[in-house]
Amino acid sequence: MHRMNLLDLTPSDLEALAIRFGEPAYRGHQLARWIFGKGITAYDSMTNLPRQFRERLAGEAHVQAPTIADVLPSRDGSQKFQIRFADGAEVQAVLMPDDDRLTLCLSTQVGCGFGCRFCLTGTMGVTRNLSAGEIVGQLLAVRHTLREDERVTHLVYMGMGEPLANYQSTVKSLRILTDPEGFGYSPRRITVSTVGLVTGIEKLAKENLRVNFAISLHATSNQARGELMPINRGWGLEDLLSACRRFPLPVRQRMTFEYVLLAEVNDTPEDARRLVSLLRGIRAKINLIPFNPWPGSGFRRPSRDRIEAFQRILLERGITATIRWSKGEDIGAACGQLGPEAPMARTIELAYAR
Ligand code: SAH
Ligand code: SF4
Repeated sequence: MHRMNLLDLTPSDLEALAIRFGEPAYRGHQLARWIFGKGITAYDSMTNLPRQFRERLAGEAHVQAPTIADVLPSRDGSQKFQIRFADGAEVQAVLMPDDDRLTLCLSTQVGCGFGCRFCLTGTMGVTRNLSAGEIVGQLLAVRHTLREDERVTHLVYMGMGEPLANYQSTVKSLRILTDPEGFGYSPRRITVSTVGLVTGIEKLAKENLRVNFAISLHATSNQARGELMPINRGWGLEDLLSACRRFPLPVRQRMTFEYVLLAEVNDTPEDARRLVSLLRGIRAKINLIPFNPWPGSGFRRPSRDRIEAFQRILLERGITATIRWSKGEDIGAACGQLGPEAPMARTIELAYAR
């Protein structure tokens, strides 16, 4: 029999489940506290739940977190986790310490079907969607490896896959993460990055999730964006940016636009100026991501001077623009470097160990 995974349920679903099993609603709260609060997955350890309830649960459901098949530590302190699900499918999650933050980058699909030219994940195609429980399960699995005094403070949906192509599970996982009875994260500490799926953005506008959104823009003309990102052939820049303009941002929140800088492709001063005019009328900030190379990509990262010159043009025109010097580049864990388990990363790690 297929047993349901309680990690796929929101705290109010757990309450409903308790009631269905003839228990008072607060048993659902207790269950949620064990699972999301304490990361306990064995019913035997949930000592304040009546034995009868635990037995009913065991008959129909389990709490199934993924396992960690491998961990690659980077020299900069970040770690890449190879996460394995019950059916053997694997994704990667990346943990990145930064000052007082500890950010976990989550995957939403096994691979990705959007085929952006500069992205290693894009070469894999998509195998399947992750369930909501598999998305939050990455947090549970990684949390178990932390010291007592460490907490994951921020979550970014920027791992493998396109969150909005797995809409239902993505939204449900966000509800579980932000529910005070669930993981209890403030929505301001969560960022969802999308390739720019216009229908998904329009649906999200009605969810009132209040999390941060990042749009992968990466080019300033339909011609250039279409060459880099096949999705642009379906929805052009006008469609994408007008969906962004209509998006009801919470006060004091801005939409992030990601722009991967590729040498001699999209890094000219002219591009920077066009970017400014494209974003007119949107409460925007720009995140410049110097391209992270992978073998056979055919792209190069611009020089530091060139990257900073691009940023300067944006800043001079009053746009907030930061440069994301990626973490975990040495272990293939930086943006766009997640892919089929890379033997190269192993080799590099072994080289460092010597
Ligand atoms: N599918 C989503 C989220 C995952 S990718 C999206 O595309 O937004 C997270 C970010 O990394 C995206 O902005 C993506 O365009 C960027 N990225 C992909 N490959 C990259 C690479 N090789 N170097 C730098 N950034 C890259
Ligand atoms: Fe998929 Fe995002 Fe990579 Fe594009 S950049 S291929 S949408 S993971």
